[in-house]
Amino acid sequence: MFRKIKGGVHPHDEKQSTEDKKIEFMPIPQKLFVPVHQHIGQASIPVVAVGDMVKKGQLIAETADGRGTPVHAPTSGKVTELGNYPNPIYGSSLCVVIESDGLDEWQENLLTTRNYENLTPEEMIDIIFKNGIVGMGGAAFPTHIKLAPPKDRHIDTLIVNGAECEPYLTSDHRTMMEYPDDVIKGTLIAMKILGVSKCYLGIEINKPKAIALMLEKCKGTPIEVVELETRYPQGAEKMMILAITGKEVPSGKLPMDVGCVVQNVGSLKAVADAVEKNIPLIERIVTVAGKTVKDPKNVMAKLGTPFSELFKYCGGFTGKNGKLIMGGPMMGQAQVNIEAVIVKATSGIVTISEKDVDYVPERACIRCGRCIEACTMHLMPSTLSILSEKGQHQTAQTDYNLMDCVECGCCYYVCPSRRNIVHYIRQSKAKNAMVRNAIKTGSK
Ligand code: SF4
Ligand code: SF4
Repeated sequence: MFRKIKGGVHPHDEKQSTEDKKIEFMPIPQKLFVPVHQHIGQASIPVVAVGDMVKKGQLIAETADGRGTPVHAPTSGKVTELGNYPNPIYGSSLCVVIESDGLDEWQENLLTTRNYENLTPEEMIDIIFKNGIVGMGGAAFPTHIKLAPPKDRHIDTLIVNGAECEPYLTSDHRTMMEYPDDVIKGTLIAMKILGVSKCYLGIEINKPKAIALMLEKCKGTPIEVVELETRYPQGAEKMMILAITGKEVPSGKLPMDVGCVVQNVGSLKAVADAVEKNIPLIERIVTVAGKTVKDPKNVMAKLGTPFSELFKYCGGFTGKNGKLIMGGPMMGQAQVNIEAVIVKATSGIVTISEKDVDYVPERACIRCGRCIEACTMHLMPSTLSILSEKGQHQTAQTDYNLMDCVECGCCYYVCPSRRNIVHYIRQSKAKNAMVRNAIKTGSK
């Protein structure tokens, strides 16, 4: 019997175009535009200069504070520029531009062979930090911080997120199908770091091949594979925890407050690569899909590769695009520039054809209640949107738990008035953050 969540929606999963295709290693583009800001936290600071020759895996930007992650050269070549270029998360940001020398040569003495069983949790955390690992499911939260919760939080459960509930995306599915041993190794490493004996790997039942393979591979390990209902947003951390453990993360609290840490399968593969081979995060699996993409695929692409190069590699377009999204169509980030680049959080790039874009204008709320039914966080999306329109952002936070919204978009998906509720909610969160910052800095 599979585990269910309450609320949510069931959009068509659209995964059939890529789910059975093997990951292809894309040729390295002539120029990579590697952003120094690819994670939550402050931008990193370049440690290379124009004209420097760099090797693959070499450190090119170090953290400004302990909360960011370092950035490494995805290939060998020459630094030709330090300049601002399109960044899919931040609009634009400082990039280290590397012109490939075509050799793809590793930095000397970088790679190694280690057994995690001989390392302490502190040593492994340090390795994960130095190799720039972040959450690869889309959040880009630094992994060395997530795996080292404050001492006063007792963690007893690791949850591995293989749900991949967003339509179109299959990069996590292919990671489990093609790198199952690395996912398991990364999971065992994370368990040792956290000191937990309980671990669940949650996979939605629309991935029967991944479930069968991981059930087989996890035999004899402490990892229990859990089958989850195919329902969006099953892959949201709080939903996974509820579906798998039955624990509800209270309003305003984090997974660690109920003893859980959630890690994505791709991040755990990266953890295994870093801890046992000292490989930094310099490339990732990206789903390139959408109705206008000629030959949709999963591609292993270097960080800093422009989206336009990936689409070219996938045969270009068969029709006009109305929208380009980084991530899935439900929670992904709309992109205005096809020259934005692959970053550590790019699980996919998805096109929506011009004729499929919803151009219906937003209307007034008719109080049908469908958004409330769909909201897995038990919020009142209609009220939150109306309060935002009226500028009552603080009331939304204090009386209607604004900050619990995970921005999943289920409310918008079901709304007959096509109200862009997530936009209103983001607006309220941003306004409240501005007020908080102004109070902190003492400005008026
Ligand atoms: S679904 Fe839309 S119209 Fe219905 S209550 Fe919610 S916001 Fe209003
Ligand atoms: S209010 Fe937030 S959490 Fe609830 S359905 Fe809408 S976007 Fe999702």
